[in-house]
Amino acid sequence: MSPSIGFPPPDPETCLVTSRVSRFKGGTLINEEVHDLETHERRLCDPDGYRPCRCPRCGHGILHVHCYPERHPRGELGLPPVVRIVQYVCAGVGCGATWRILPMFLARHLWRAWKTVERVVMPAGTPPAVGTLAIPPRTEQRWRTRFAASARVLVVLLAASGGVALEALASRTGLDASRAELTAAHADAARAAPGARLAALAELVHRLERGVRLM
Ligand SMILES: [Zn+2]
Repeated sequence: MSPSIGFPPPDPETCLVTSRVSRFKGGTLINEEVHDLETHERRLCDPDGYRPCRCPRCGHGILHVHCYPERHPRGELGLPPVVRIVQYVCAGVGCGATWRILPMFLARHLWRAWKTVERVVMPAGTPPAVGTLAIPPRTEQRWRTRFAASARVLVVLLAASGGVALEALASRTGLDASRAELTAAHADAARAAPGARLAALAELVHRLERGVRLM
């Protein structure tokens, strides 16, 4: 029996619960429609492919392609070592916020595809890796620790989201749930497929409060 049974899960690291809404001019937006590399590359070829209809900071309706930053997802065969993303800049007077658009399958800050992380922390049901690309044991341990940490901040976000289904999920899950429990409950409710379960919840919490992270 786990020694933690009966106790709430430990607090998550600060980096997982820090909002970036007010501290930064611009930031990352996650596109929840793009689940695979092929769709991502098609969108990338078109300047409008990922263009937000308005600037989330000032509401201005014109954003220009600014640059194509690189992401280096490691450990997932089938993904190239370099994946370009697109960054737009707002043309609003006095704004100039820049917005990077991340396809849903790439995890923010983790240098990984979500599928790679999910295979470690939720192996049951997750599609197996094609071939093997080793993940350092210390990285795996960090992911497991984060996944076992408290989901309190995320549950509060869902409860305050204004969405009936999300509020119901929050009250069902409760404030003492771990991130693992919340992910499983959300995947169930949202019918997120194995391999896309972490990505689905991560995108949702980032959309509700930019910067807040599942992992
Ligand atoms: Zn703007």
